[in-house]
Parts: sequence; C-alpha cells; structure tokens
Amino acid sequence: MLNVPSQSFPAPSSQQRVVAGGRSKVPLKQGRSLMDWIRLTKSGKDLTGLKGRLIEVTEEELKKHDKKDDCWICIRGSKGFVYNVSPYMEYHPGGEDELMRAAGSDGTDLFDQVHRWVNYESMLKECLVGRMAVKPAAPKDYHEEKKVLNGMLPKSQATDTLAREGPSSPSYDWFQTDSLVTIVVYTKQKDITLDSVIVDHQDDSFRAETIIKDYSYLINIELSHAVQGDFSVRIVENVGKIEIVLKKKENTSWKCLGHPLENHNSLVPKKDAGLFYRQCQLISKEDVTHDTRLFCFMLPPSTHLQVPIGQHVYLKLTITDTEIVKPYTPVSDSLLSEFKEPALPNNKYIYFLIKIYPAGLFTPELDHLQIGDFVFVSNPEGNFKTSQFQELEDLFLLAAGTGFTPMVKLLNYALTNIPSLRKVKLMFFNKTEDDIIWRSHLEELTFKDKRFDVEFVLSAPISEWNGKQGHVSPALLSEFLKRSSDKSKVLICICGPTPFTEQGIKFLHELNFSKDEIHSFTA
Ligand code: FAD
Ligand code: NAD
Repeated sequence: MLNVPSQSFPAPSSQQRVVAGGRSKVPLKQGRSLMDWIRLTKSGKDLTGLKGRLIEVTEEELKKHDKKDDCWICIRGSKGFVYNVSPYMEYHPGGEDELMRAAGSDGTDLFDQVHRWVNYESMLKECLVGRMAVKPAAPKDYHEEKKVLNGMLPKSQATDTLAREGPSSPSYDWFQTDSLVTIVVYTKQKDITLDSVIVDHQDDSFRAETIIKDYSYLINIELSHAVQGDFSVRIVENVGKIEIVLKKKENTSWKCLGHPLENHNSLVPKKDAGLFYRQCQLISKEDVTHDTRLFCFMLPPSTHLQVPIGQHVYLKLTITDTEIVKPYTPVSDSLLSEFKEPALPNNKYIYFLIKIYPAGLFTPELDHLQIGDFVFVSNPEGNFKTSQFQELEDLFLLAAGTGFTPMVKLLNYALTNIPSLRKVKLMFFNKTEDDIIWRSHLEELTFKDKRFDVEFVLSAPISEWNGKQGHVSPALLSEFLKRSSDKSKVLICICGPTPFTEQGIKFLHELNFSKDEIHSFTA
C-alpha cells in the first residue's frame, strides 16, 4: 500500500510484520526513520535520476518503471504527479512490497485508503519526475462555475449523483439587510448541530463545510464585498437549517454574494473531502505529568469550529522545510470543566493533552513553540457517534497512556447528557504512577459523581504499589466489566498503543462482547 511516512512511525520490537488498524507495518532498518528520509531529501542528491528536469510522463512510460530500483508511481490519476519512489523504498513504514503494488501505475486509491491527510507533495517533492501527459478534461459544469452567485445555484452535478446514495441534496441561499448578510444552508437533515458546520472566513474567501451524515457539503465563495471578522452561526435544528450571519463593513446593497471558488456547492463523501487547515495561536502550555502537557490554542476569530466528541484533528508544522502532520484528540480544559465555569469561553479555544517523546519527530517541535506561535489545525475526523450512547446504561472506558484523550470528552458528555446512564468505569493503564494523566481530577470525579469509578493498572510499578499491575488481560477485563444487570446496554471504548487496542479487542470478543458493544479509537 502506498503509505507515505506519516502520523505514527512505529518502533517495531520484532522482525515480524505487524498489522495496525488494517494496515501493515514492517520494521525499518537502522537509519531509515522519517527524519533520516527528510535528511536525505535535503542532501542535494539527485533522487529522480533526471538531474532536476521535470518531464511529461505517458502511461506507456509509467508502466516501464515497475522495478524496485526503478519504480515510478502516479498519484491523482491523469491530473497527477509522478514520483520516482525507489530511493524512498527502505524508508516506507508499510514495507517495500506494499509500495511495489503501485509500481508503474496509479497509487491514488492505495494512498487515500491509508493517509489521505499526508502532504505527499511535500514529503516526496525531491522524487518528483513530472506530470502525467494526459490533459485533464474541462469540468462539465464549467459555465455554471463561472456564474456570479446571486442567489441559489442550480443543483450541481455532484449533488445530483450523490443524492441517490447520500443525503437529500442540500442547497443554500442568501439574503441581506442594510448591515447584515445571512447565508442559509438547507441540509434537509434533522440532526444538525453546531458541530456539524465549520466556517472559515479568510480575507475575501468564505468557506462553510457542513457534515451531513457521512457527506461533506461545501460552500466556497469569494465574497463580493468586505465583511467584518466575526460572524455568528445559528442552527434551526428541527428543519436542519443553518444560518451564518455576516456583518457588512459598509452598509451598501450587495448585487451578488460573490464568485464561486474550488468545489463550491459540492456534496462529496466525507472521506473524499480534503482537509482544510487554519492557523491557531498557542495561548498556554502547562505541565500535566513529567512528559505530558496541556496545550491551549486559540482559533482565529473568523473561524467556527467545534470538534465533535470522540473525533480528532491533525496538527501541521513545517519541520526542516517539510510539512509534518500528526493526529491529536482535543480535550476539555479540565476533566471537571462541565461542573464549573470554564476559564476561557469554550468555542474559541482548543485544548490538547500531548505527550512529548524526546526522540520523536513532531512533539519536540511542538514543545519548542513559544506562546504566540502558530500551528495549523485541520477539520475534525473520526467515526465515533454520540448516538452510540442512546439508552446506554454501562459505559466502560479502557485507556492506555495518552489513549486517555478521547475519554475526556466522552466522560463529560455521558455523565451530563445521558439520563439512562447507571455507571461509567475507567480502567487506566500506565507504566508508572508518574505517568497517570489527571489522576487527582479522576479521583475527585469519583467523589463528585457516584456513577463514576476509576481503576489504575501499572505495567512497571515500584514495589510499594498495591493497586492492579500488568498489561491488558482477560482476567483483568472480566473482573472489571460487570454489567449493571444481565440485559443492560453496554458500550466499551478502547484507546492506546496499537498492540494494546488489538489485544484488548480480542479479549473483549473472547468475553462475548459483541462488535456493536465495542468502539476502538484508531487513526
Ligand atoms: P514519533 O516520531 O512518531 O516517535 C514516537 C516514538 O517512537 C519515539 O519514542 C521515537 O523515538 C520512536 N520511534 C519513531 N520511529 C522509530 C523507529 N523507526 N524505530 C524505533 N523507534 C522509533 N498523542 C498525544 O499525545 N495526544 C493525543 O491527543 C493524541 N491523539 C491521537 C489521535 C489519533 C487518532 C492517533 C492515531 C494518535 C494520537 N496521538 C496522540 C499520537 C500522535 O499522533 C503521535 O503519534 C505522537 O505524538 C508521537 O509523535 P512524534 O512525531 O513526536 O513521535
Ligand atoms: P505508554 O508507552 O506509556 O504505555 C501505556 C500503557 O499501554 C502501558 O503501561 C501498557 O499497559 C500499555 N501498552 C503499551 N505497549 C503495550 C503492548 N505492546 N502491549 C500491550 N499493552 C501495551 O503509552 P503512550 O506512549 O502514552 O502511547 C499512547 C498511544 O495511544 C500512542 O500510540 C498513541 O498513538 C495512541 N493514541 C491513539 C489515539 C487514537 O487513536 N484516537 C488517541 C490518543 C493516543
């Protein structure tokens, strides 16, 4: 599988191939880490064999380069770029064989299945051979795209096609008063909430992405007139209507809303929608354990973004001239925040609990950021749905290390919003007592809410530790996972290092928990 180095670069302990979240990873030789690859790309070595020339590649030519020492791959089909990936073979976390599956052909699908968020253009830029010679066809709705927007557009082709399989086609409209412009999105879906819509207004460009089931509906417009930085977003839930109210800079009448930008008025499966990033500013950084810190970033004033419970975002930094992206799961500012006034308004700040790995690629750079510095934050991703909590009676959370992060918002949400809930139990696996994130918050929560309980399990405790010890095991789980009643509705959420999650799921099945009763957090 074409699997460009990315979010997690495992430290394999054996010579065996390991399978993580459906994807294979092989041990890499010494000196073949992502950082080593970046160093090689900066060495000035000719990695394409073309001495800096870029060429047009025909399909016939591409097919000829299908050997390990002469391997070209095209990404993005006929519009795509062609890379000579031979020098990269030994650095590929998925192994040479996986990469060879796309040799001399189009690797887009293989690539997208694994890491569609990775900026391969940046990662493989020194391997760029050129572009495919085939000319891209003109877009079918070219004339429509050129139109000035002065109201509702006819349904786009994409919308028509997808409407048959996806949600009923959404649409939009706009109206104005002397001082305001209101853009209205009709989702035709009832369960729309404030976290279903992500709005960014940067310079003149206005972008609103609405998530409707597993689809993404995009409005992307260059506004015809200037508006102020802030805006408001309202939801009329029962009719699935979203209103975005912009404030005009000047009280003039607008003849049109603006001009369409890329993918405007399109409805695509969420997995095919590119990730959009905005710059967020580091506001504070606080030690939580010896190696884990709570980072607080401020969203731009002209962004509306609320990360849904159980979902993650990607943080992007440029490290030695290469864009590096890693996933992180936003948390609340405190585990007890639902029970007290937050120190800062919730919707403008985004918090992360991040463990710093001294030998890691991304986290040391993140740790070096100064207050006031910026990091790019993407739109959310993830497949957890709060509907999994419906009628829930017992919620069991199995977390290891920073695998605790998705549990933070889950815990808060379940304890405050699920009336049927009878108990929430967290089994928290760590190496030592010093590694336990927010231990005092967790203990305090057991006093604040009688339905909540926590059990700490240490894999490398000091001899004085008299709590539970060891790794995840059937014995630990069967004792811990006691239902409130024989027929109680149960959900078990699990997150941590890949081997922990995989073993945990296996044991849960052995203990007769069904697939629907288990949710695992992975990339
Ligand atoms: P890496 O460079 O990936 O290295 C990590 C460790 O592995 C280091 O100790 C390094 O020395 C070692 N290593 C790397 N490569 C090799 C190699 N080839 N051989 C031997 N050892 C090696 N983390 C959080 O802290 N908080 C979160 O909220 C969070 N959310 C996540 C959400 C998702 C969906 C996923 C998939 C992961 C999440 N993570 C989270 C983990 C995070 O994405 C990163 O993997 C983590 O921060 C490590 O990144 P890094 O680049 O600093 O380290
Ligand atoms: P860690 O190395 O400190 O280990 C914590 C505990 O995990 C250990 O005490 C042990 O009980 C268990 N564990 C570790 N390795 C194991 C193995 N090989 N087999 C069985 N159990 C094992 O953990 P960490 O450094 O905090 O790493 C946390 C992991 O969680 C990272 O891999 C990160 O990518 C992942 N994570 C994933 C998500 C997500 O997918 N949504 C979110 C956050 C973190």
